[in-house]
Amino acid sequence: MVKQKIVVIGNGMVGHHFLEQLANRPERELFDVLVFCAEPRPAYDRVHLSEYFGGRTADDLAMGKVEQYREWGYDLRLNDAAVSIDRENKIVTSASGASAAYDHLVLATGSYPFVPPIPGHKHDKCFVYRTIEDLDNIQAAAKDGKVGVVVGGGLLGLEAANALKQLGLEAHVVEFAPGLMSVQLDEGGSKLLREKIQALGVTVHTSTATELIEEVDGRRLRMNFKGDKSLDTDLIVFSAGIRPEDSLAKSAGIELGERGGIVVDNHCRTSDKNIYAIGECALFNNFIFGLVAPGYTMARTAVSLLCGEAAEFNGADMSTKLKLLGVEVGSIGDAHGRAEGSAAITFVDEQTGVYKRMITDREGKKLRGAVLVGDTGDYDTLLQYHLNDMDLPEHPEQLILPALDGAAPALGADALPDTATICSCHNVSKGDIVGAVQGGCCSLGEVKDCTKASTGCGGCAALLKNVVDTELAALGVEVNNDLCPHFPYTRQEIFHMVQVEEIKTFDELLHRHGTGKGCEICKPTAASIFASLWNEHIHNKPHVGLQDTNDTFMANMQKNGTYSVVPRIAGGEITPDKLIVLGQVAKKYDLYTKITGGQRIDLFGARLEELPEIWRELTDAGFETGHAYGKSLRTVKSCVGSTWCRFGVQDSVGMALTVENRYKGLRSPHKIKMAVSGCTRECAEAQSKDIGVIATENGWNLYVCGNGGMRPRHADLFATDLDDVTLIKYIDRVLMFYVRTADKLQRTSVWMENLEGGLDYLREVVIEDKLGICDELERQMGNVVGTYQCEWKTAINDPEMLKRFRQFVNTDEKDEKIVFVEERKQRRPATEEEIVKIAEPA
Ligand SMILES: Cc1cc2nc3c(=O)[nH]c(=O)nc-3n(C[C@H](O)[C@H](O)[C@H](O)COP(=O)(O)OP(=O)(O)OC[C@H]3O[C@@H](n4cnc5c(N)ncnc54)[C@H](O)[C@@H]3O)c2cc1C
Ligand code: SF4
Ligand code: SF4
Repeated sequence: MVKQKIVVIGNGMVGHHFLEQLANRPERELFDVLVFCAEPRPAYDRVHLSEYFGGRTADDLAMGKVEQYREWGYDLRLNDAAVSIDRENKIVTSASGASAAYDHLVLATGSYPFVPPIPGHKHDKCFVYRTIEDLDNIQAAAKDGKVGVVVGGGLLGLEAANALKQLGLEAHVVEFAPGLMSVQLDEGGSKLLREKIQALGVTVHTSTATELIEEVDGRRLRMNFKGDKSLDTDLIVFSAGIRPEDSLAKSAGIELGERGGIVVDNHCRTSDKNIYAIGECALFNNFIFGLVAPGYTMARTAVSLLCGEAAEFNGADMSTKLKLLGVEVGSIGDAHGRAEGSAAITFVDEQTGVYKRMITDREGKKLRGAVLVGDTGDYDTLLQYHLNDMDLPEHPEQLILPALDGAAPALGADALPDTATICSCHNVSKGDIVGAVQGGCCSLGEVKDCTKASTGCGGCAALLKNVVDTELAALGVEVNNDLCPHFPYTRQEIFHMVQVEEIKTFDELLHRHGTGKGCEICKPTAASIFASLWNEHIHNKPHVGLQDTNDTFMANMQKNGTYSVVPRIAGGEITPDKLIVLGQVAKKYDLYTKITGGQRIDLFGARLEELPEIWRELTDAGFETGHAYGKSLRTVKSCVGSTWCRFGVQDSVGMALTVENRYKGLRSPHKIKMAVSGCTRECAEAQSKDIGVIATENGWNLYVCGNGGMRPRHADLFATDLDDVTLIKYIDRVLMFYVRTADKLQRTSVWMENLEGGLDYLREVVIEDKLGICDELERQMGNVVGTYQCEWKTAINDPEMLKRFRQFVNTDEKDEKIVFVEERKQRRPATEEEIVKIAEPA
């Protein structure tokens, strides 16, 4: 069979997506594929480029690896830009002199940053912000500098300003227009964003045009603005927009738009039918899409067409939700309300710094656009109304007003049309999911495998499950919530059986209710249930084989195979003596030391065989395990409260200690985090925790089921002005009810959202004792509290348990493959490149 030749020019995010999609198709075999990549490395995640300054390496950002391309059978030419296209003979020539014949050519050349032609812009302290090399250059220049300026107050400019701040510079943003992010935000949103960003220490200069950049003192740069003003700086980053990289297409005579961009039709074909253009170099309907998702859709369209399937690219929605310097910003559709007959509903809370504006049609029936600054919690729901052209509810303002009764008007699966996008990473619609279920997928896992939904960032997991369950129920299929193939029961049912029949071991459970030998799903789940109910040591003979890796070694394994040591520091309170011991232990074992967001000190880089000795020294000094490895209570964060703070109305540290010491041994379906604040200023951020407690003049307000992480959720106010005893009683009940009824690996937030009746039902169970189980819940919690033991303290005194901590069974040999290098005066895991370098003979 003669294979067709595909040449791809450009290996950025979109070029990579094209190659990945093609590799996963059976038609892959029909093609020989060659890729020209101008950069020295294969595609990397440009969207998260700024994280390079936060410690992510080029390796971490890599999307494609050389070995992966080899496995896919692609001929990847790194560091070799294509320089000409001979369309007549269908040959591409590269900078290195290589030539490649094609049947189909794919241009994925992306874009380049626009630098306004201000005199002086070519100075070697002027940079752009697009590639890893750009960031290396900025970092090097920032080393001896104090001030950095970004030219451009758009989305990328603000991200660059944040990066300069992270590099320790005094950051300024200079913007020609009167407001920030003027494409995405209206005047009100832009004004609030500016205030917030200024409050974070970035100086914003709007309506400011730079006329000249000159060198002063032989070292610094002076930016002279229109009028008399000027600003001295050590470096300048231009982020004033992008321009499509179309020079190659231009010289090959391919049609370009008036202001640049390779013109494509809705098959992503250029004026030459053998040449496709995808991503940021392509101009569709006179528009360049500066986001990655539309580029991905173009890539999939081109792959489908090459494989002989019908496919069309019909444009893309440009709505965005992001966090800039920690400020939440969202923009949907016609954010400025420019279309004829638009009407606006605006909510502004100056106290908390929240701005929300909906743009509707004149009748208030359809959502045309929205702007959200300071709180994007309503973004997903608003986006679905907009994208699916759905009728707004009778009182559309409720969609952005604070939900006073705690219930936000979110959209359920039934309300969504088939065209609704559920997973935007892989562009999977509700219709695709319904099709998969109707085509025979009977579980969430099968739908994921079949559609790829929720296998990207995972942010759509809850909505996907909702759609799958609803569809299965509509088909009359009983929703399969079986734990795994070995147990035809839900976690809740198994918990009940273990409790009622007083089952103490996995073998017994399997024998009575399961089949086969068990698996990595049912074993840890059963181990967690045994621990919640009977609280025996997780390394006791019958239990140890059930645990996952972290529980098996009572430590979290890190990326280089070493482990972390996390002692409990209840409420974040620690004596100087204990601090000294932590320092001594860290020094002795050369452990990387970090203060975490949960107010404790983590020690990283311990070898497996060192763990018992480290823990012996720590427990001798009075430390206990912090359970960082377990699905259990992690930390209880607290502010200093009334003891020190002049606003404090209750002793928040005392309460945090009580709570942490009470629940510290509790194993649960997922990790649990808590916090206690001494007044409504909320310095401990209790409303982002599973259990949050905030002091009032009369006692404590209890918040439940919040979380941070990938899908943050504000906790709900559960009860107000509680005394100490009632507070603890309610927390006992909520937690034990959660432990008994949640699915495996379900956080409290999702658990509560899935409870029929939600928060009101939870109140009925816990406060009104609707199910008559409160005494039992309290008794069970009492048992957990009463049988607490520090797992590490027990383990270091048990020779049998200690055996596990030798790297190689029956020897005391160490794993010499673990390599560290020094950074910022501490050691960290070496990267793959560093390991190779270290291994090379000098
Ligand atoms: C800092 C930053 C943050 C961003 N944040 C977001 C975000 O939050 N959300 C979002 O959706 N988008 C974001 N983007 C935009 C997103 O990164 C782009 O939409 C996406 O990278 C476009 O992919 P592409 O493959 O079309 O172009 P690129 O990623 O630019 O890749 C094009 C590649 O082609 C190469 N090339 C060019 N000419 C040639 C040639 N002649 N021969 C060989 N190779 C060539 C280039 O060197 C480059 O490697 C961000 C971009 C940056 C820089
Ligand atoms: S939450 Fe209140 S009591 Fe606690 S530190 Fe903040 S202001 Fe002080
Ligand atoms: S998993 Fe958590 S700790 Fe690890 S990189 Fe992500 S946010 Fe950081």
